[in-house]
Amino acid sequence: MAKKQFKAESKRLLDLMINSIYTHKEIFLRELISNASDAVDKLAYKALTDDQVGLNRDDFQITLTPDQLGRTLTISDNGIGMTRDELEQNLGTIARSGSLQFKQDMDAEKKADVDIIGQFGVGFYSAFMVADKVTVTSRAYGSDEAWCWESTGVDGYTLSPAEKEAPGTDIVLHIKADTEDDKYGEYLEQYRLDDLIKKYSDYIHYPIRMLMHKSRQKERPEDADEDYKSEWEDYDEWETLNSMVPLWQRPKSEVTEEEYNAFYKEHYGDWEDPLSVIHVRAEGQVEYKAMLYIPTRAPYDFYSRDFEKGLQLYSSGVLIMDKCADLLPDHFRFVRGVVDSPDFSLNISREVLQHTRQLKVIAANLEKKIKAELLRIQKDEREKYETFWASFGRQLKYGALEDYGAHKELLKDLLLFFSSKEGKLTTLAEYRGRMAEDQPYVYYASGESVEQIAKLPQVERILDKGYEILYLTDEPDEFIMDALGVWDEKPLKSVSDDDALPQTDEEKAEAEKKAEENKDVLDFVKETLGEKIKEARISKILKSGAVCLTADGPITLEMEKYFARMDQ
Ligand code: ADP
Ligand code: MG
Repeated sequence: MAKKQFKAESKRLLDLMINSIYTHKEIFLRELISNASDAVDKLAYKALTDDQVGLNRDDFQITLTPDQLGRTLTISDNGIGMTRDELEQNLGTIARSGSLQFKQDMDAEKKADVDIIGQFGVGFYSAFMVADKVTVTSRAYGSDEAWCWESTGVDGYTLSPAEKEAPGTDIVLHIKADTEDDKYGEYLEQYRLDDLIKKYSDYIHYPIRMLMHKSRQKERPEDADEDYKSEWEDYDEWETLNSMVPLWQRPKSEVTEEEYNAFYKEHYGDWEDPLSVIHVRAEGQVEYKAMLYIPTRAPYDFYSRDFEKGLQLYSSGVLIMDKCADLLPDHFRFVRGVVDSPDFSLNISREVLQHTRQLKVIAANLEKKIKAELLRIQKDEREKYETFWASFGRQLKYGALEDYGAHKELLKDLLLFFSSKEGKLTTLAEYRGRMAEDQPYVYYASGESVEQIAKLPQVERILDKGYEILYLTDEPDEFIMDALGVWDEKPLKSVSDDDALPQTDEEKAEAEKKAEENKDVLDFVKETLGEKIKEARISKILKSGAVCLTADGPITLEMEKYFARMDQ
């Protein structure tokens, strides 16, 4: 049969897997179980509304079958299955966001940092770390034909018709031969597999079963005499390996950081640990549990239209919606995670759900929790917060401006700006805390870069007074200053404002005198520049710079530039 070729990027990842010297090859099992669980989730979800499925929740399962003699490990699920096209699409191409990101990172680093493999959910291809041939037989729900996908690695794969009685997928791993360094045979040992499932997949909420080979003592016969020697017998028994309690259902104190992180990476296609986990259990007017993650870095599509916000919504451990957008405000749309509440019925429709009071209460509570956690990190783990800020600061800034500033009160404490005094990022509250009471305003200055702003003539005089200035380099910054207007009774003021430094009566008189004396010069300037400027006057804000441009009215120069660009 003619072999089909993998797409180029898939080939690279595959190559990496096959030749992996990665020490935690065991994660392949976690990946395959997670796929099986996703597939079962999809069919179980369908079964909620479609009687045709004919399966109850209790019927779903994932099985592991090691075969020592044949040296194969089979992972089966009775989930949604794959059609011929899906087999080709899903297993022949890397379409996953995570994998793409992975590939980009590899390209950027130009080296195969093998450790990244373990950090990151590498998906289906991780099977090739332990198997030299992989056979996938699948039958999609709703189809009456089955297909077999088979590959020995980089030289391509084959697709052929197959037999399979019920929907679902069987994945047969032909386990590699042992080498000096790697004892692949361990992945055929039932106790090792049991350990791995408990370590990585314990909370998967479908039973993962294995036919365990056991021995037991035979019952002592009634008529046994004193010399009776106990006898042993072998038998096989299906055993459920996982406890099936979802992570978020467990008490916080019993979940390790490793478990939290593993769940995150596996479910959200990130290769990096999350910045923080928020695990809450609420029992008030609405009962729910939530496990939320703040990612360390923005996914590659975060600032594009493709990115979809939302949390997974469960009802007592059963998934009822994969991306429930209404649970997250836009300004916190980077948050990932799950909400589980027994207050929602399993087959509630999207439309009804949107309008339930419970959903609104949960969303409002979560918003508060997220803010509180971000403030905690800002206070206790500043470096971490700055990493967060680098990824999502922009989102918070836009959030503060969105909906006519409806969220600015909530978000204002989270914002960071560059401080002239500290030489690093600061919050408005921190600035205010350092500010002398006789300083009239909270100052800010805008420009392309911190270096450029520091050189502005308008800045100099304010700095000379010993006042701190916020250097704004990002587009939304000035709009935020404008929207906030004042911080704790001190107005926010652009250093370019004419009255940035209030004058004493003497200074005022002095200035008027100067203007009078220089009237000829000013008239000359106005005449020469004509319509380009509104008026020429003696500056109250300059010190050593000879001349500067000032905006007239509430729009500053930087804002004018911004609008000019938007118009183009
Ligand atoms: P991911 O799980 O992140 O999407 P994987 O590489 O693990 O990436 O899997 C690729 C795709 O293959 C999955 O998205 C899914 O569509 C399909 N797939 C893998 N395993 C199964 C399975 N057991 N049943 C149905 N579909 C599967
Ligand atoms: Mg996967």
